[in-house]
Amino acid sequence: MRKFILLSLIILPFLSQGQKKRPKLVVGIVVDQMRYDYLTRFWDKYGDDGFKKLVNKGFNCKNANYNYMPTYTGPGHASIYTGTTPENHGIISNNWYNKFTNNSMYCTEDAAENTVGTETVAGKMSPRNLVSTTITDELKLATNNRGKVIGISIKDRGAILPAGHRADAAYWYDGGNEGKWISSTFYMEELPKWVQKVNETHNSNKYLNETWETMLPIKSYVESIADNNPYEGTFNEEEAPVFPHDLKALRDSNHNYSLIKATPFGNTILKELALAAIEGENLGDDEFTDFLAVSFSSPDYIGHKYGPMSIEIEDTYLRLDKDLAEILTYLENKFGNDEVLIFLTADHGAVNVPQYLIDNNLPAGYFDQAKMTADLKSHLKKSFNTDTLVASVSNYQVFLHHDYIAQNKLGLEVVEREVSQFLLKQKGISKAITATSLKSTEFSDRILANAQRGFNHSRSGDVLYVLESGWIPAGYSTGTTHGSPYSYDTHVPLLWYGTGVKQGESDDFVVIPDIAATIAALLQIQMPSASTGSPIVKVLK
Ligand code: ZN
Ligand code: ZN
Ligand code: ZN
Repeated sequence: MRKFILLSLIILPFLSQGQKKRPKLVVGIVVDQMRYDYLTRFWDKYGDDGFKKLVNKGFNCKNANYNYMPTYTGPGHASIYTGTTPENHGIISNNWYNKFTNNSMYCTEDAAENTVGTETVAGKMSPRNLVSTTITDELKLATNNRGKVIGISIKDRGAILPAGHRADAAYWYDGGNEGKWISSTFYMEELPKWVQKVNETHNSNKYLNETWETMLPIKSYVESIADNNPYEGTFNEEEAPVFPHDLKALRDSNHNYSLIKATPFGNTILKELALAAIEGENLGDDEFTDFLAVSFSSPDYIGHKYGPMSIEIEDTYLRLDKDLAEILTYLENKFGNDEVLIFLTADHGAVNVPQYLIDNNLPAGYFDQAKMTADLKSHLKKSFNTDTLVASVSNYQVFLHHDYIAQNKLGLEVVEREVSQFLLKQKGISKAITATSLKSTEFSDRILANAQRGFNHSRSGDVLYVLESGWIPAGYSTGTTHGSPYSYDTHVPLLWYGTGVKQGESDDFVVIPDIAATIAALLQIQMPSASTGSPIVKVLK
């Protein structure tokens, strides 16, 4: 032991001089709506070169969790890349009620920008609503702009938020009758040649003119419930939620190219774009680390429609495993196995279809937000003799009309308390917390603390509520969703592989903001500006 300490004292000063090897390329992979158990439930059916390679040869953080609510796509991508939570990065949801304009706004909307690549409005986007830096921004600063950063995804927010404010480009998919990868004038005036070339091949057609059949014989999908069941939604004009899904026949009634988003082939066209990006931008070709942020959105669309127990979801992951294997093999052939850093995680999980849980005697339910809002308004009318107090109910938050409350000297805290007491009497609500208490108390209970870390003082509402576990907002007669602070939504995969990463696994509880801090440690650069995470030391060589 003493010998070891002495040796460490001699060696450590040399190792800490910043001489560690940096990767030539970082590939950050987000799988939209990937629950942790998709790794274990489908394990036996995965090939050796996809998920299994990352798990077996890399480092598996088996207990990585979101530490805020609401667990949605915009906040998820923002939190992975900023290394903090909505409290600090400002992306409190995908859409939210803007208190200053009294309008609903979208997380990456930007009226000042225009679409590059098509004539639609799908590119009027930018990362400007994200109020802290990303790890990709920090890479740009650290390399004095010499490292390239590109974000790609089917969803705009899945490309824009990871790529950050200083990105060379972000590309996302414009469906409808376009079927093209597009960008925004925030990044460029014209698509580069390599993207134009990908668009000219219109690869989506290759998949949309076929049927979606199961990759393996359907009888072998024993990890999932029957293909035809009452918990699954259907495509427009499809009679039953069953294989084969005839994409060619469904195209016209399902917004043409947009149909590919809710099939596993949305992942395949993104994989093709990822490889084209590495070639077209010469990523990883010099000593300045480049960063490719890839977000696979299709599993989310499919999960919403069919639910976690469906054969459709299982087939999606078996096919994604193949696409992933293709990316990993490509990287290894091009760069060897020590020049690229890869991580894979998800932006949130998902709950099982509540009706499926109910039918299996498990606690679950559907919460009627519209009815609750109407009841709340009539309750407040009785208490305060006015019906102008509630400005909006969205993202499990009640927004109050501050001006009206001030003008009529009702006292904001008094109204907040009345709302919170009313909410706690509603079936399906487990917690209600006022903004005043969120601003003045530090919560340590995990669920309440999650609500607090999702609460942004300038953007969030006045009373937050949490549904009981297993409950989702009503309006889903089939399929499911996410957004809660519970384990099915917060527990996601976190896999590390490549430059500087140890081989191993850990059951330690780690949080999503630790990801950016770990990347900062691996790249030996500054953490993002509002980082609240810590490097996951066990991952580091
Ligand atoms: Zn998502
Ligand atoms: Zn089905
Ligand atoms: Zn979703």
